[in-house]
Amino acid sequence: MSLGPIPSGKSVTTSAAELRPVTALKGVGDALATKLAKLGVETVQDLLFLLPLRYEDRTQIIPIGALRSGDRAVVEGEVQLAELVFRRRRQLLVRITDGSGFLTLRFFYFTAQQQAQLTRGVRLRCYGEARRGSLGLEIVHPEYRRADGPDAQRTEDSLTPVYPTTEGVQQGRLRILTALALDDAEQQRVRDWLPSDLLRDLGLPSLAEALTYVHRPPPGADLMPLAMGTHPAQRRLAFEELLAHQISLRLLRQQIRTEPAWPLVSAGQLVMQFRQALPFSLTQAQERTLSEAIKDIGTTSPMLRLVQGDVGSGKTVVAALTALVAIEAGYQVAMMAPTELLAEQHWQNFESWFKPLRLPVALLSGKLTGTARQKTLNAIASGVDVPLVIGTHALFQEGVRFNRLALVIIDEQHRFGVQQRMALREKGMKEGRVPHQLIMTATPIPRTLAMTAYADLDVSVIDELPPGRTPVSTVVLPETRRDTVVARIAAACREGRQAYWVCPLIEESDELDYQAAEATHAALVSALPSLQVGLVHGRLTSKKKEAMMASFKRGELNLLVATTVIEVGVDVPNASLMVIENAERMGLAQLHQLRGRVGRGAAESTCVLLYRAPLSRLAQERLDVMRSTTDGFKVSERDLELRGPGELLGTRQTGLVQMKVAELIRDADLLPRVQKAAEQLISHHPESIRPLLRRWIGNGEQYGQV
Ligand code: ADP
Ligand code: MG
Repeated sequence: MSLGPIPSGKSVTTSAAELRPVTALKGVGDALATKLAKLGVETVQDLLFLLPLRYEDRTQIIPIGALRSGDRAVVEGEVQLAELVFRRRRQLLVRITDGSGFLTLRFFYFTAQQQAQLTRGVRLRCYGEARRGSLGLEIVHPEYRRADGPDAQRTEDSLTPVYPTTEGVQQGRLRILTALALDDAEQQRVRDWLPSDLLRDLGLPSLAEALTYVHRPPPGADLMPLAMGTHPAQRRLAFEELLAHQISLRLLRQQIRTEPAWPLVSAGQLVMQFRQALPFSLTQAQERTLSEAIKDIGTTSPMLRLVQGDVGSGKTVVAALTALVAIEAGYQVAMMAPTELLAEQHWQNFESWFKPLRLPVALLSGKLTGTARQKTLNAIASGVDVPLVIGTHALFQEGVRFNRLALVIIDEQHRFGVQQRMALREKGMKEGRVPHQLIMTATPIPRTLAMTAYADLDVSVIDELPPGRTPVSTVVLPETRRDTVVARIAAACREGRQAYWVCPLIEESDELDYQAAEATHAALVSALPSLQVGLVHGRLTSKKKEAMMASFKRGELNLLVATTVIEVGVDVPNASLMVIENAERMGLAQLHQLRGRVGRGAAESTCVLLYRAPLSRLAQERLDVMRSTTDGFKVSERDLELRGPGELLGTRQTGLVQMKVAELIRDADLLPRVQKAAEQLISHHPESIRPLLRRWIGNGEQYGQV
């Protein structure tokens, strides 16, 4: 796929100047150009956006006596002694002094010419990182030159940028090349695509000013904001970069939406029957989300809607109602879950919901094989018999053909990549129509971030829990208090309550994972002889897992020991106590998901987080967050602060992680303005779009090919 709807750049002259090949610069031939290409540098403009990784201060000469281990600095001194020694390796040791102290320069590689030059009495200016060595402070392989030559007095007049390099392209060369490119920028040959009124509003510098500053910060520039990326010059560039990403996601969305979908409209018979049979009425947030989805699927433009709702907020019912509209309109619906366990649970739910409506529901799981599988596949392909198919990623394997697939529901989206969503979409591409997509996630993310990361989706938020739920109270205890916890479980179960005991995933190893769960199970069985204690873990066949879960759900088991397989979606309203072992090892999102398994019924629920001391500062903070709130949005906001967005969203969903200057968290305050600016540019300055994408994202392939 290419980025179809990008308006073509009109201002050919400026674009042409921006796209001058690096070979247009003095001293750059084909050989160097090939090497630069490895750094992603093909044009003069690319050189400008090859930004320094860090800066060195070579504007001042530091007295040797003031030098500390770990300092990178320029020093100047006279050679006192130079000797060739053989200590494991042949090396040249040169001792210099400036009267305030001594410093050893250590060379393992040197030419005969260098050796001849470095003799007593010669003045040197050196740059490098000082470290404590066997002879006191030393610099290994410093950059150096003679300081008694003609330009001896000169020091650098700006901070020295350090660029990412590649083989055969040295720092010195990059500094020369970027200086040449900066001349271009200063002569306005690189165009500032941000409207000047926008820059004025933002109080940010022009492109040329910003580039000059980041490539050549003046002496005395404060290195702190520069290192943190918060200098206005950097913010100006970050803004532009975020803007380019925002625009590209919007274009992707536009493009998807220009492909036609079946408009799904029904008289609402099935919806009405289903609602009447429900033992509860929908919350306002559910109603709002439902009507947004129904409105979306009624048009020929494919729905791409993300439903964010905390665990237990009731996303499944909304999905079911949306599905009924599509089914009544005469089409097929596919629902995809991240695990077999969840697919089966959904299937059970939907079966019991849809049975009174006489709508068969098919389950296509990995364990379905042979003729049974073929039969199901045939039914799906024929369409009429199977209005709803539930499954895992098995749904989009080869060999699965739908008849009239018009709506795809994806549960727990964070486990699916964009690619997988797109693959499923292709499945419905019959007669050139793409299915509508409803994506449900229990990983709530802060709004500004959602708008940035999911700019290709519309977002509905179910920000309200069904009534009658009492928030889960969370207790954090050291594992030395385990006995107290066990006693508490015994008491709760005597009152007819049920409990989960969650064992952690151990170093991603299935085997250890399962052993730990087995051991815990055995210990609890002997500590609680009067209780029925079950065990589920990833090693069980899905049949056994299912049987165990079902028996827990029926109340035949008091306590269920489980690995984190129960993390997502499992629904047993009578379970009101959860113990999570080694909670300090788990991430916030995971803890929140796990905790969401309790607090689903009317009884007051408790979650006990057991930890092993000592706690790291980060672990301590995570546990504090869990103790202080049950609001998924607050949890995820803190998670974001503690971890950063890449991990939270998964790199595949964001497409935002490889940014050059911007960082979502640090620059989050810019995001609302970025949104507005994206709209402004798309509608009023379409000519700026292609050059901006070219500048920041390359040819847009990354987005065009999801
Ligand atoms: P999640 O958003 O985590 O997927 P579910 O859809 O599994 O949540 O719903 C959690 C539980 O709440 C289920 O038992 C469901 O039947 C119930 N539920 C959903 N909506 C409501 C409502 N409006 N009132 C009462 N209970 C509800
Ligand atoms: Mg769910």
